[in-house]
Amino acid sequence: MIAIDGPAGSGKSTVSRLIAERLGIPHLDTGAFYRTATLAVLDDGVDPGNPEGVLDVVKTMDMEIGDATVLLEGRDVTRAIRSASVSDQVSVVSAHPAVRTILVDAQRRWVEERGGSCVAEGRDIGTVVFPQADLKIYLDANPDVRAARRAEEMPDDPNAGADLERRDRFDSSRTASPLAVADDAHIVDTSRLSIDEVVGRIVDMVD
Ligand code: C5P
Repeated sequence: MIAIDGPAGSGKSTVSRLIAERLGIPHLDTGAFYRTATLAVLDDGVDPGNPEGVLDVVKTMDMEIGDATVLLEGRDVTRAIRSASVSDQVSVVSAHPAVRTILVDAQRRWVEERGGSCVAEGRDIGTVVFPQADLKIYLDANPDVRAARRAEEMPDDPNAGADLERRDRFDSSRTASPLAVADDAHIVDTSRLSIDEVVGRIVDMVD
């Protein structure tokens, strides 16, 4: 079990995916759970800031997180969960403690169903979801580098950089399992490293 936490734009997703591939184990993107819940909330016209309304949606939604696709009520939402409207509200939805309880349970079940081994990425993996992980990594990068990476990933969204800063602030300051470095995590600053170098360092640690 490898836990990879860190803010948006730290390189988490690309790096986690590549490490999972190299090790031949599943890759769990926990952000996809919060994004799918947010899409369900927006689709139902519920105010993301309303805890009861959000909880009702999340309790009853039919979400299927596959290895490469995400379904919501049977509809393929793999791309829709990356839209600017979801990115804009996801931190509000993920800050509700009851939502986190439901989604953390779903994340643990996802891993159990696949045999118990995986590379899991998110904000609270090493601290809350899998505190018993064999290796914990906290990926970071300076804010300018992270904003530039996000702008490159989303060239059609002129607010991508600013959105990232706002989301980080929200994710780090919420009461329920905020983005934090686990005591036993290895911190890797990716600002000046290539993806291959980051993957290489982490695979060396695994070895
Ligand atoms: O990783 P990604 O940027 O897709 O995550 C989207 C949002 O989901 C984060 O900004 C955060 O609000 C929430 N999240 C979380 N805990 C996780 C993963 C994501 O709160 N483990």
